[in-house]
Amino acid sequence: MEDEKIAKITEMLLGGGKMLSVHCGACKGPLFEFRGEVVCPVCGERTEAEKVEAKPKAAPAEKVESILRTKLNSFAEQLEKETDHTKTLELLDRIKSVLEVLEKLKEG
Ligand SMILES: [Zn+2]
Repeated sequence: MEDEKIAKITEMLLGGGKMLSVHCGACKGPLFEFRGEVVCPVCGERTEAEKVEAKPKAAPAEKVESILRTKLNSFAEQLEKETDHTKTLELLDRIKSVLEVLEKLKEG
């Protein structure tokens, strides 16, 4: 994932957006719920979520994805409160790693 994309996603997380388990139909990035709207931080617009079929049983990859999303939200919360520059960079690094894994999961 490009740094620009990661920066926009991080910005959205910090702004109080909540990462959803659906992806943008245009850029395939994760969609966010922000102020009651579904938005794509990368395309910067309200967008239609891709229709996701509800599956009766979560596959292992989906379980991992859900855990990673929880982590990501928690890192974002920590990042918001963090004032130490070094720790801020560490957190950004972790966020980047999680986003990279999520990207890989999507590729299958
Ligand atoms: Zn998009």
